Amino acid sequence: MKVARDYIVIGSGLAGLTFALKIAEFGSVALITKDAVEESATRYAQGGIASVMAEDDSVDLHVSDTIEAGRGLCREDVVRCIVREGPARVRELIDLGTRFTRTQGEDAYHLTREGGHSKRRILHADDLTGWEIERTLIDAVRAKSNIEIYPYHMGIDIITRSNIDPAVAPGSREDEALGLYALNEKTGEVLTFTGKAILLATGGAGKVYLYTSNPDTATGDGIALAHRAGARIANMEFFQFHPTCLYHPQAKSFLISEAVRGEGGILRLKNGETFMEKYHSLGCLAPRDVVARAIDYEMKKSGDDCVFLDVTHLEGYRTRERFPNIDKTCKSFGFDMTRQPLPVVPAAHYMCGGVMVDLNGQTNIQRLFASGEVCYSGLHGANRLASNSLLEGLVLSHRAAARVSELRKSSKKLEALQERLPEWDPGDAVESDESVVVSHNWDEIRRLMWNYVGIVRSDKRLYRARRRVEMLLEEIKEYYWSFKITRDTLELRNIALTAQLIINGALLRKESRGLHYNLDYPQPDDTHEVLDTVQQDTAQRLITGSTDARIKS
Ligand SMILES: Cc1cc2nc3c(=O)[nH]c(=O)nc-3n(C[C@H](O)[C@H](O)[C@H](O)COP(=O)(O)OP(=O)(O)OC[C@H]3O[C@@H](n4cnc5c(N)ncnc54)[C@H](O)[C@@H]3O)c2cc1C
Repeated sequence: MKVARDYIVIGSGLAGLTFALKIAEFGSVALITKDAVEESATRYAQGGIASVMAEDDSVDLHVSDTIEAGRGLCREDVVRCIVREGPARVRELIDLGTRFTRTQGEDAYHLTREGGHSKRRILHADDLTGWEIERTLIDAVRAKSNIEIYPYHMGIDIITRSNIDPAVAPGSREDEALGLYALNEKTGEVLTFTGKAILLATGGAGKVYLYTSNPDTATGDGIALAHRAGARIANMEFFQFHPTCLYHPQAKSFLISEAVRGEGGILRLKNGETFMEKYHSLGCLAPRDVVARAIDYEMKKSGDDCVFLDVTHLEGYRTRERFPNIDKTCKSFGFDMTRQPLPVVPAAHYMCGGVMVDLNGQTNIQRLFASGEVCYSGLHGANRLASNSLLEGLVLSHRAAARVSELRKSSKKLEALQERLPEWDPGDAVESDESVVVSHNWDEIRRLMWNYVGIVRSDKRLYRARRRVEMLLEEIKEYYWSFKITRDTLELRNIALTAQLIINGALLRKESRGLHYNLDYPQPDDTHEVLDTVQQDTAQRLITGSTDARIKS
C-alpha cells in the first residue's frame, strides 16, 4: 500500500517530535515509529538540557566548554549556532508546557552542573527531564490533526531516485530521497510512504554493545538506512561510554546521572580509596571519556567487577529530593544510596558520530534530512559535552523544519517519480525456521563489539572484529533474502552494519582522541590537520568535515 503525505518523519524522540510539530504548519505529516510512540532514548534522559540561562554564564563559555570536550573536532560555527539558538528553543518547550525544576521559593530555574561544564547551566525536571520533555511534545503532536502517528512501524529502507533512475548515481548530487519502506509490525505488511522530504530521527545505537544505558530501540537503524541510501556517515569511532550505570544483574541499563557527581558524588574503589584525582584535575567531574577510561583501567587492574559512587557524605534528604527517580529505582534493587556507596560500571551511552548534516539537518542526498543522535552535525566532535544532545536535537529539528518548509511547492516531476516507485516485493521469502541464528548473531555482535571495540582498542582487536563482522554480514544478508522480515531481523541487519561502520572508523583514525582510544596510537596526532573519518557506500576516507565535500574511493 502507498501512503502519500507531505512530510515523512522517522522516530518519535525529541528530534522527530520537534520537527513534526513545526513542519505540520506547512503540510501533512506521517510520523513513523517502530515502538510505542513514547519509547525513545529521550524519555530516559535524566540529567537535563544544557542552555545558557544564568546571568554569570555566556554563549562564549558554553561554546568553549563544548569545544574543549570535543578535542579539536567540533565545528565552531555549528557549536556557536546551536548554543546561541538553544535558549530560544528551550523557552518554546517551556511555553508548550515543559515544567523544569525551579529553585525553592524563587522565580528562577534550578540549574545543575555536569562534567566538563564550567558553569551551572543544565535545566532539569528533577531527574526525569527526558520524560517531561517527551510528554509535552507528544501531547502537542497529538493535538495536531494533520500529524498521523504510525506506531509499531519500522523504517526498512529509504527509496532514492538512483533506485529507479539508472542515470543517477547513488549518493551523487542529483540523487534524492523519494520514499520509505516501513514494516507494520502488527500485520507484517510493508507500506511505501512518500513525501517531499524525509527526516531521520531514529536516535542512537547503544545496542551494538553488550552493556548499554540505551533502550532497545537504539539499534543504529538510521545510520544503516542512510548508509544504504548513499548518505555520508562520519566519525563513528566516537562512542561515548557513560561511566556510571548501576551494576546489578537485573538493572541492565539503569543510568546513574552525571548530575549525581555534579552535586558532590565521589567515585571510590572497593577499599574506599578515591582515584579520579590521579587522572584529571577536575577529579570526579572530568569529562566522561576520562572517567570511563579511568574506571575501566582501575577495574582491569584490581580485577573488581565494579567501582562505587558514594553520596553518603551528602545530606540524605537533599539527595532524595534532588534524585527521586534514581533513589527509588536503586531502592527497588536493594540499594539505599544515602547509606551505602552504589556499585557502578561504564556502559555504551551515546553515539557521537552519525549521518553527516549541515546546520539545517540536510544530508548529502536531496530531500533527506537528519536530526538528533542519528546525525553528525559537528557539535560534539570527538566527545559530547554532557546534556548537549537534547539541545542539538531541539535546535537542528527547528532549523531543518525551516529549511524543509522552503520545499513546500508541489512538484509535478517529483510526483511522477514517486508514482513509479515499486511496492515492496517479498520475492520467494518464507517463514524462518531458524530464529535461533538471529538471536545468536545478535549476541555475538554485541559481545565482540564490547570486547574488541570498547573503551580501550588496539589495531589487532579491531582487525579481528572487522573480519568477524564481515562474515556475520554475509550470513545476515543471506538470511534477509531467504526469510520473511521481522523487526528482529531488520534490527540485526542494522546493528551489524553499524558495527562495521564503527570498526572502519576506528581503523581509519591512527591516533587516540576524545572517545577513541587505541593502544597502538595512545596520543592525539597534532602534527597534522585533525580530520573527520567519513564513509560513503564502500569508500572510506579522512576528510575535512563538510557535507559538500565529495569522497573519492
Ligand atoms: C539513560 C539515558 C540518559 C540520558 N541523559 C541525557 C541527558 O540528561 N541530557 C542529554 O542531553 N542527553 C541525554 N541522553 C541522550 C539523549 O537522551 C539522546 O541523545 C536523545 O534523546 C536522542 O533523541 P532523538 O530524538 O535523536 O532519539 P530518540 O529519543 O532515541 O528517539 C528515536 C526514535 O526513533 C525510533 N526509531 C528508531 N529506529 C526506527 C526505525 N527503523 N523506524 C521507525 N522508528 C525508529 C525509536 O523507536 C524512537 O522513537 C541520555 C540517554 C540515555 C539513554
